[in-house]
Amino acid sequence: MVIVNLGRKEGHGKRLGKYELGKTLGEGNFGKVKLARDTDSGKLFAVKILEKSRIIDLNNTDQIKREISTLKLLKHPNVVRLYEVLASKAKIYMVLEYVNGGELFDKIASKGKLGEAEGRKIFQQLTDGVSFCHSKGVFHRDLKLENVLLDAKGNIKITDFNLSALPQHFREDGLLHTTCGSPNYVAPEILANKGYDGGTSDIWSCGVILYVILTGYLPFDDRNLAVLYQKIFKGDVQIPRWLSPGAQNIIKRMLDPNPKSRITMAMIKEDEWFKEGYTPANPDNEEEGVYIDDDEAFSIHNASLESDQGSPTSPPLVNAFQLIGMSSSLDLSGLFEKEDVSERKLRFTSTHPPKDLEERIEDIVTGMRCRVQKKNGISTMLDFS
Ligand code: ADP
Ligand code: MG
Repeated sequence: MVIVNLGRKEGHGKRLGKYELGKTLGEGNFGKVKLARDTDSGKLFAVKILEKSRIIDLNNTDQIKREISTLKLLKHPNVVRLYEVLASKAKIYMVLEYVNGGELFDKIASKGKLGEAEGRKIFQQLTDGVSFCHSKGVFHRDLKLENVLLDAKGNIKITDFNLSALPQHFREDGLLHTTCGSPNYVAPEILANKGYDGGTSDIWSCGVILYVILTGYLPFDDRNLAVLYQKIFKGDVQIPRWLSPGAQNIIKRMLDPNPKSRITMAMIKEDEWFKEGYTPANPDNEEEGVYIDDDEAFSIHNASLESDQGSPTSPPLVNAFQLIGMSSSLDLSGLFEKEDVSERKLRFTSTHPPKDLEERIEDIVTGMRCRVQKKNGISTMLDFS
């Protein structure tokens, strides 16, 4: 057995069922990620702690727990494995496979772009993992370099599958916060607010990742969010000529702004550039290990779990993209019709209660002889006419 210093004296570590919690591995949007050791087997895990206070709709935490639990079905060598989900009154704990090679983001940020052979290997693994999850009906929805971890052998492990469906971008004030994930990877059909298919939008994001891996910079970037969205919407991308024709072609096919003509997973796997040296991962070979996956056996504070009943008045769960779509103050689709950025739209966050904000906005706007429209409780449509 490997003896690992968990940062506390033996016997003094905080317990979570059979796990002993150790040092903090990182801090995410929801809360901390901590190293954990199964005290029975000595095996290491990463525990992602979601603070319920950071999730606006407290009545729906059981639904969230159930949604997360469906991720336990995803067993693939290139997808961070979720072993179990535990909950206490204030927190949800996700017991994850511990991945100790760091983030792909840090590797690219420190070493710069990868050569095509190395980049292709990572892209093949990415495609394998993502297409496997698609085949199980699970879409990632927030694919970006930061969500691709590396193991000790340099193989990739995709993390945070489907987690963007959780209302992580809400805080107590109910407004969207700017700390939400990088918008550089978002597909144009999501921005256009015309309804989208999770699979094709994930392919776009994989195209952005491949571009970053091979060039060292983002295909779409601008300090001004409106200009950035405009670039994405138009598929306005410069693909460097020094990349091989095969690499240029597959990137171009993935970053097709039209989701209907965009390359599919099946087509990617038939692509000549992609196929070079490709050995598909075999999910069935995924080591089952000795992990006992039984919620009841390890669930802590079972008695303090909240009830299944969501309040009838509670708003439905929405993700950040749906929120953007619901709120016309953030819906930039009108901006894409014409180049004119002079039609400014303002995005802001506030610590005031939504109701106070709405009243105040209404006062000001009415004074300007404009009209305010409200929709769906949490979203306030401001229709300046
Ligand atoms: P969020 O997506 O909410 O921002 P992350 O999942 O990225 O949070 O976790 C924050 C940090 O924890 C990251 O820097 C990452 O390196 C680390 N981390 C997350 N999951 C694991 C894991 N399974 N194994 C090791 N480290 C992890
Ligand atoms: Mg993440």
